Amino acid sequence: MYEGAVQDLIDELGRLPGVGPKSAQRIAFHLLSADPADVRRLADALTEVKLRVRFCDTCGNVAQEEECRICRDPRRLPTTICVVEEAKDVVAIERTREFRGKYHVLGGAINPIAGVGPDDLRIAQLMRRLADGTVTEVILATDPNVEGEATATYLARLLLPMGLTVSRLASGLPVGGDLEYADEVTLGRAFEGRRRLSA
Ligand SMILES: [Zn+2]
Repeated sequence: MYEGAVQDLIDELGRLPGVGPKSAQRIAFHLLSADPADVRRLADALTEVKLRVRFCDTCGNVAQEEECRICRDPRRLPTTICVVEEAKDVVAIERTREFRGKYHVLGGAINPIAGVGPDDLRIAQLMRRLADGTVTEVILATDPNVEGEATATYLARLLLPMGLTVSRLASGLPVGGDLEYADEVTLGRAFEGRRRLSA
C-alpha cells in the first residue's frame, strides 16, 4: 500500500480490464517518472473520450456524431448488415477488408449466468432497421463461444422467418475465442466462407 494519490491511481488502474495489481503498480510508477507532457496527453485523451465519443444512433458503433463514419458512408452497401457483439469487433472486421455492408452492434451477447437476456441487447433496434425491407442479408458475426452461439441462434430464429438471407461466420475461428483477437487472415477467411443458415 502506498500513500494517497499513488494508491488511488493504482486502485483505479487495477479496475481496468486485463490489468492486475502488479501491472497497475507498474503503470502507476511509469507515470510517476514520465514526462509531465505525456501524462497530460493521456489525461486529456481520457477526458475527451468521455466528453466527445458517443454511440451511433443507428448501429451502436462508437461515433463522434449522431451517426458513425460507416453509417454515413454512401459507398457502404445498405442491403447487408453484419451483427457483432462489441464496437471493437467492427474494427476487427474492417481490418479484413472483406465486408462492404453496414454493421449492428448488439452491446454484448446472451448470457443467462451473467443475467444478460435478449432485452438487454440492441435487438429491438436491429428489428427496426430491418423493417423497411432495404436489408436483405444479415451476417451473424458474434463471438465463436457459448454466448455468441446462443445469440446467433436466437437471432437466426427471429430473422429467418422474415425471408432474409442469414449467415454465420465459417469455422476456422478459434472456438471459445473472442472475435477481436482473431488474426486478419483467419477472420477474413471465416467471412468469405460464411455459411448460410436455414430455418
Ligand atoms: Zn453507425
